[in-house]
Amino acid sequence: MTTLFISDLHLDEKRPDISRAFFRFLETKAIHADQLYILGDFFEVWIGDDAISPFQEEVIYGLQNVSKHCNVFFMHGNRDFLVGNLFADLSGATLLPDPTIITLAGEKTLLMHGDSLCTGDTEYMQFRAMVRNPDWQAEFLGKSLEERIAIAKHLRDKSKEETANKEEYITDVTPSEVVKVMDESGCTRLIHGHTHRPARHPMEARERIVLGDWGATGWYIVCDGKSLELLEFNPL
Ligand code: MN
Repeated sequence: MTTLFISDLHLDEKRPDISRAFFRFLETKAIHADQLYILGDFFEVWIGDDAISPFQEEVIYGLQNVSKHCNVFFMHGNRDFLVGNLFADLSGATLLPDPTIITLAGEKTLLMHGDSLCTGDTEYMQFRAMVRNPDWQAEFLGKSLEERIAIAKHLRDKSKEETANKEEYITDVTPSEVVKVMDESGCTRLIHGHTHRPARHPMEARERIVLGDWGATGWYIVCDGKSLELLEFNPL
């Protein structure tokens, strides 16, 4: 039983090298795996299932092929939280709530995107509460495509600008929040992305594993049912 985890590819037609790396990952790794978990920020932007671009369609077809052989699971990130049921139907992926608990190699494992762990960033937490509100989402999805594109761009620019001005520890997870979610869930392992700080953090009898984003290198976790590895690879 092989399980793979990826996150933070930020797929965007402006970065064709990353989507090429993803297609290669599908053909060489995911197609032979039993399960593929995508833990958020898979797309750089998603303004609604009714506005799927030709580029996004290509990505969906790639997933559709692989999902015939491998169970694909998709968790939202802070960039692609509007991915919906049409995407799931077309791609063959199952949408997962954040957080989700699975059993991995006999261990109760908590899966999250990771943004909800950054509680020190109060500005972001307020923003998150706003955009995750069903009323806000319904209103946004009711706007024209042009308006949605403009709003999404504005929010992205604002977030980039604000993040650049924030201290490192603010944009990382809050340690006490990590302990809290692990205590509450009873999990001994936490896997998340979002912070773009790939690492394995032992926490006494528990562990937090952070996936990396895809850029100069790509990151994934592979679990063969016994042991688990966080691997970096050259996507080119
Ligand atoms: Mn994120």
